[in-house]
Amino acid sequence: EMEDIASPRRTTELLKRHGLVLKKSLGQNFLVDPNILQKIVAAAGLDRSRAVLEIGPGIGALTQQLAKLAGKVVAVEIDQRLLPLLKETLSAYPHASVVHGDVLKVDLRGLFEEQFENFEQVSVVANLPYYITTPIIMKLLEKKLPLEYIVVMIQKEVADRMSAKPGGKDYGSLSIAVQYYCEPEIVTIVPHTVFVPQPNVDSAVIKLAVRKQPPVQVQDEEFFFDVVQASFVQRRKTIYNNLAARFFSKETKSQLEPVLRQADIDPSRRGETLSMGEFARLSHCLADALK
Ligand code: SAM
Repeated sequence: EMEDIASPRRTTELLKRHGLVLKKSLGQNFLVDPNILQKIVAAAGLDRSRAVLEIGPGIGALTQQLAKLAGKVVAVEIDQRLLPLLKETLSAYPHASVVHGDVLKVDLRGLFEEQFENFEQVSVVANLPYYITTPIIMKLLEKKLPLEYIVVMIQKEVADRMSAKPGGKDYGSLSIAVQYYCEPEIVTIVPHTVFVPQPNVDSAVIKLAVRKQPPVQVQDEEFFFDVVQASFVQRRKTIYNNLAARFFSKETKSQLEPVLRQADIDPSRRGETLSMGEFARLSHCLADALK
């Protein structure tokens, strides 16, 4: 059995021996607390019949714990300097492998077909690089990859927005995008002391259970998300003002109020009060009016 990588002593030793200075620009904040790792791994519900895509293995602290339970682990790492180190730390786990690349550029569908064809259930489990949290999660969701769970460490503020219900300041287009594809649950809040080096923000582990079906019926997803996005452009403004600015001119603006009435939405409401079902209804009525 290999020694656990996740401790301040082991992390410092490995980085020093490989002559590595961490890059802030790549969001390299490494986990050094075994308890947090256990919480992340437990949330993913792994066993040998399940596979994992990890994003950003770093020096392999999480990868090692995933490999102890999962049938296969594939980790995508952008920083070439880490590859020899990962080869060393993961040598005891032949079913864990590292792909060198930028997760935002990698063909994930192709990767799934090549790597996970023998697995029915694949989850993403990662301590994400914070500078690209939202683009990574949106890529995973929009590509409609066949995922069971996405269990990720992210900024607490982003986790709050992803899991927000209508009515509060955290609720916005990110909440609706994430909740259209998944059921979110915050697993735990994480203090910055569990990282080396420590980030400036609070963190949280969020578990997204990927839905088989969206919770509302939407005819045109692109237009639906366009309407949602437009409704939050100026948070303090009414839904009427935001939609008028995005979809109507001075001349056509008079059509908007009847559309809102038809969708049973008071024009003086703000976007942050609308449920996903109301946005779906609104996008149908608006699409008909704009035809
Ligand atoms: N998993 C390790 C841990 O928990 O200690 C490291 C997590 S660290 C927050 C983020 C990792 O993502 C770093 O190893 C970084 O090099 C890598 N990374 C940053 N940008 C990336 C990208 N675009 N594609 C793949 N990996 C990336």
